[in-house]
Amino acid sequence: MFTEAIGNMVRNAMAANPNAGEEYTGDDGLLHCGVCGEPVQQVVEELIKFLPGGIAPTQCRCMRERFRLAREEREREKAQQRTAELQRLGFADPAYMRFTFDRDNGSSPKAREAAEWYVENYHRLRAEGKGMLFMGDTGTGKTFYACCIANALIQKGVPVWVTTMQPLLRKAGDFSTADGVFNQIKSIDLLVLDDFGTTQNTPRNLDLMFEIIDARARSGLPLIVTTNLDPEEFKTESLGLKRVYSRIKAMCCTCEKSPVRMTGEDLRVQSARAAHGVHSAG
Ligand SMILES: [Zn+2]
Repeated sequence: MFTEAIGNMVRNAMAANPNAGEEYTGDDGLLHCGVCGEPVQQVVEELIKFLPGGIAPTQCRCMRERFRLAREEREREKAQQRTAELQRLGFADPAYMRFTFDRDNGSSPKAREAAEWYVENYHRLRAEGKGMLFMGDTGTGKTFYACCIANALIQKGVPVWVTTMQPLLRKAGDFSTADGVFNQIKSIDLLVLDDFGTTQNTPRNLDLMFEIIDARARSGLPLIVTTNLDPEEFKTESLGLKRVYSRIKAMCCTCEKSPVRMTGEDLRVQSARAAHGVHSAG
């Protein structure tokens, strides 16, 4: 039985050699690869000495190369599967997967620069718990650039979750889903809260909102927020809102590039478009 296993091993080794059939016997009496010239046999003394002449198969350079390529291919496939899984978990709306730097129309060079800077410095910023805040009116591209960050980090294997406040409030307020959603809020490497400030500020919502933001703050992990509110105007008489705003400012407005103010298209781009008679999509 063991001999049979060895026989299989020899056959597999032969099959793995892309140049099988082109071997020649070298001066050392061993078979050599007809392509690279390295031996495809070795003399073994201790372990498999019952093979004729104590000869066992070994890999020549061609075979090692073939195994290396196969291993790299497997690793590439695994990385692709992981990326697809991170995308599936990361975006409630699959349309956000298409918000990537290579699809940027150049409408906000400053926002792009800040977003690329965040990706480049992610590991330091993560350790410091620093996120970002993109602010501007609808159509200025704040969601786009926040998602560019998310997509670029997912490509690097970082788990990211892009969501809006509404589903978080719904799940946090439901006994059966609260634990799960809070665990995710506390553990996801990067949380992106899109379109913050559009939910109704009922007392119950404010309580839950604070719990959500506070849970994230205490995790020490970064939060990226997009909003049409101006952090300079995070002024309110509502105590409930005050404490939410103060947590968001501490997490999102303390790194050197944040907040990113998006006031519409960059003037140069606008004039370039006007010169070419192209209208902005808004
Ligand atoms: Zn070879």
